[in-house]
Amino acid sequence: MIDGRDGMRAVRRGKVWLVGAGPGDPELLTVRAHRLIAHAGIVAYDELVSPAVLALVPARAERIPVGRRAGGCRHHEARIHPLIVIRALEGRDVVRLKGGDPFVFGRGGEEAEELDAVRVPFEVVPGISAALGAAASTGIPLTHRECASSVTLATAHAAVEDGDGMPPLDVPKEGTVVFYMGLGRIEATCSALVAGGRAPETPAAVVSRATLPDERVVVGTLADVAARVRDAGLEPPALLIVGDVVARRVVSQAAPAIELRPYGLRSR
Ligand code: SAH
Repeated sequence: MIDGRDGMRAVRRGKVWLVGAGPGDPELLTVRAHRLIAHAGIVAYDELVSPAVLALVPARAERIPVGRRAGGCRHHEARIHPLIVIRALEGRDVVRLKGGDPFVFGRGGEEAEELDAVRVPFEVVPGISAALGAAASTGIPLTHRECASSVTLATAHAAVEDGDGMPPLDVPKEGTVVFYMGLGRIEATCSALVAGGRAPETPAAVVSRATLPDERVVVGTLADVAARVRDAGLEPPALLIVGDVVARRVVSQAAPAIELRPYGLRSR
């Protein structure tokens, strides 16, 4: 509280940090994200934020689960959680963790707009988006000079939500495309791409739980990757990478079969 000369009291507003929590591996947090999490008094997070990242939240911090599986209403998806605004108006700083990068399909833009509308100060901390984490982790060079001069980040929603058969996807005809999506949309997305002119033999990969200890990748073509994914029984979250770069996958031959990393034991 700040006492004004006229006896009015102004309450300091807290700040909300919209923080990218990366794809899952806590070692992929930015230094800033790590510092903010480690010193947080209040942390709001959704289901995409990995348990290993949440383990960095101080025990004394208030935790606000946000999102579909947090027992919240669906409308919380599109709106910032009311408790985040309430805490900020009470003068408390809030770290709002969002999977990957806050401004890549995370509705971070909407949250920032809402905070701005109620004059709560905010700052965005970028994170490693799932596409980048998945590519690095599975060895897919997204813009290999010999086969792709662009990479598009897309969602597959349009491929199923229009009841009109196969709507064209709003993606370029060439270059790499990464689809953020539910696993159930892979088949419709691949069909829509072929209908839109991409060859059925175009290489495609689905990466599930990228950078997490149980990461899995399934490689195929637009014609068969959906069936391969079904057979493999991949778990969400997952994304689809389409383009010739998938065939340029490179995983170090020189790596030992089992690597000891700070974040658990990983086998290749
Ligand atoms: N802001 C996030 C994306 C949120 S949309 C980011 O920048 O990564 C949620 C979608 O992201 C999921 O449906 C899935 O397609 C993808 N995703 C998030 N984390 C992932 C992970 N660890 N592995 C694979 N896909 C992931």
